[in-house]
Amino acid sequence: MCETVDILIVGAGFSGLCMAIQLRQAGMDSFLIIEKAEEIGGTWWYNRYPGCACDIPSHLYSFSFDRNPEWTRRYAEQPEILDYLRAAAQRHGVALRIRLKTPLREAAWDEQQGVWHAITGDGVRIAARVLVSGMGALHVPRYPELNGLERFRGPAFHSANWDSRVNLEGRNVAVIGTGASAVQFVPRIAPQAGRLYVFQRTPAWILPRPDGPIPERWRRVFRDVPGATSRSGGDAFSAMFPAQRGWSGRCFSGGSKRMSSGFWEIARCAG
Ligand SMILES: Cc1cc2nc3c(=O)[nH]c(=O)nc-3n(C[C@H](O)[C@H](O)[C@H](O)COP(=O)(O)OP(=O)(O)OC[C@H]3O[C@@H](n4cnc5c(N)ncnc54)[C@H](O)[C@@H]3O)c2cc1C
Repeated sequence: MCETVDILIVGAGFSGLCMAIQLRQAGMDSFLIIEKAEEIGGTWWYNRYPGCACDIPSHLYSFSFDRNPEWTRRYAEQPEILDYLRAAAQRHGVALRIRLKTPLREAAWDEQQGVWHAITGDGVRIAARVLVSGMGALHVPRYPELNGLERFRGPAFHSANWDSRVNLEGRNVAVIGTGASAVQFVPRIAPQAGRLYVFQRTPAWILPRPDGPIPERWRRVFRDVPGATSRSGGDAFSAMFPAQRGWSGRCFSGGSKRMSSGFWEIARCAG
């Protein structure tokens, strides 16, 4: 069986969805998104650890053509970002063109016909004039190679595959790594864990994150003032949230800290 589309997009994260929406807006309808996961959202579907959120202000972490005045926090958390992506896919009419649980297995370019021959995981052949990769880089977890890990009897999982069935209350917890994910979930689990050990190889530089809820009165501004959420609206955003201005100010005046001290400061504040 062989299907034909003009454009085949691989991946239904921010990139694949953006591509599809832009195609529709340009009047091109012959496209299909194939997504190997059972849901759209890419990294925002895979990552569900406590405290999972964006690291740049939500108003800037949005499609430029689909600003969202309704963000409830300055740094939205994973469920809200995933909802935003789902709603955007519906709003722009691309949801029905996404085929879930459909991995791209191989693709070969046929020079003579000027066409890509793609084969999905279940053997379906798709011919496409253009193949667009929106496969992302961060959705495949990297597990550390630790001697004796196979003998460890307790639960062990990667933050990108968070096992929410495991109750950390009062338990000894070891976290390996101090990257962008650890900096988000360690402060969340610190109050629950009996003891928490964080193994750090290379201290990272971190900055304070002036997070907080966005009150309804500000959401009204983002809703009603044209351009308030647009890129130039980023300045308006900083003006509305002085702490945000302070953030970038300190960024250039040595306000960042090495993880070893700053990380624990954040963990303490959250705890
Ligand atoms: C916790 C976290 C916080 C982040 N915060 C920020 C931030 O604040 N600012 C920022 O700019 N970035 C941030 N990022 C980076 C984030 O990954 C990107 O911003 C963006 O979501 C990447 O989107 P993408 O569509 O390119 O890739 P992904 O979201 O990785 O999506 C790729 C999709 O392709 C699918 N796919 C892959 N291979 C195949 C295949 N062979 N067949 C079919 N489907 C396939 C995957 O299943 C996946 O759904 C963050 C990432 C994480 C994990």
